[in-house]
This record gives sequence, C-alpha cells and structure tokens, in this order.
Amino acid sequence: MDYLILIDALHPVPWEVYTSLELKEVSGILLEVQAAEHLGAMLEKARDEGIEIKALSGFRSISYQQGLWERAVARAEAGGMTQPEAVALVSETLAKPRHSEHNCGLAADLCTPAADDTEENFCTTSQGKWLAGNAAEYGFILRYPRMKEHLTGIAYEPWHYRYVGSEAAELIKSSGLCLEEFLHFYSDDFYTARWTDTR
Ligand SMILES: [Zn+2]
Repeated sequence: MDYLILIDALHPVPWEVYTSLELKEVSGILLEVQAAEHLGAMLEKARDEGIEIKALSGFRSISYQQGLWERAVARAEAGGMTQPEAVALVSETLAKPRHSEHNCGLAADLCTPAADDTEENFCTTSQGKWLAGNAAEYGFILRYPRMKEHLTGIAYEPWHYRYVGSEAAELIKSSGLCLEEFLHFYSDDFYTARWTDTR
C-alpha cells in the first residue's frame, strides 16, 4: 500500500489499490489494516489522557459513494437545476465515487463522543485540539487545513484525518505543508508518475 497516495478530484483510487485493500475494524469503523492499527493506538492514548474520541466514518465502498453521489445530484435536479448545475453544486461538498479518500481506507472522520455527525467546531473541542497536537505521531494528518483550499480543492475539515505514516506526518505537521505540497516538494517524480498512472 502506498500510504502517500493522492486521491482528489483529478486522481481516482486506482482499481488495483481498491481491489487489493485489506481492511480491519477499529472503534466501529473499517480502515486499511495498518491505518486501523495506528488509529486504534491513537484513540487508546487519547483515552489514557482522559480524551474520548469517537470514530464516525472510515472506509466507504465505491458503490456506497456512488449512491451518495446519485442521491445528492437527484435532489438538486428535483429542486429545478439542470444536470450540469446539479453536478457542479454537489461537487462542492461531496467527492465523486472513487475520488474520496474514504474509498481507499486511509481516512477517518472523528468527532466528540456525543456527536452523530461531523462538527464544524471540532478544532475548538478538547478532542480536536488533542488530535491537532498528537495525530502525526500516529501517522495521521489533518488533510484539509485552512488556507490550503486552493491546493486541496476541499473546504477546511477539522474532523477528517488521513493516514500517511508517521515519518511523512511529522514532516507535514512541522513544515505546515498540505499533502499536495509535500508530494510536490519531497517527491521529484511525483507529477510525472501520477499523471501517467491515471490516464
Ligand atoms: Zn472525511
């Protein structure tokens, strides 16, 4: 598994990655096996320090993402939009099937114990603050930071943590780069390799 894999609007989850994913249950969600083990260790450490963090969402199948996508587009069309308008609107808040990090099992949405949905103010909670300080040690990064929207293509999501391995996570955290910048600066052949891979 390439833990630095880039999944975004231009880069779908490659089928060979999707079909060979090894998933493991952790805290009620499914994640890729190494990501799951690290998430488990991270949540346990937080609990030891008196911080209870809930795992809300992990791996989602491509067909599940497809269902989310089609329902959202249909809702927008029912509201009077043309199909291209509906697709443009839905794209602002939902990844297309194969284009969500949740489709590759490396992303987890986290929240406070009583929540049953993502929280806009998660970064102000003790759980959000603990993660911002400690997640890198366990190989997780805050994937969609503020001020990087023009590079990630995704609005700030204080709840969405992505497993990249602890070495990369520590570098990303200390440098203040987002994953796109990190890949650009730390991997010479990144753009050539990815662009040819996905065509
Ligand atoms: Zn997420």
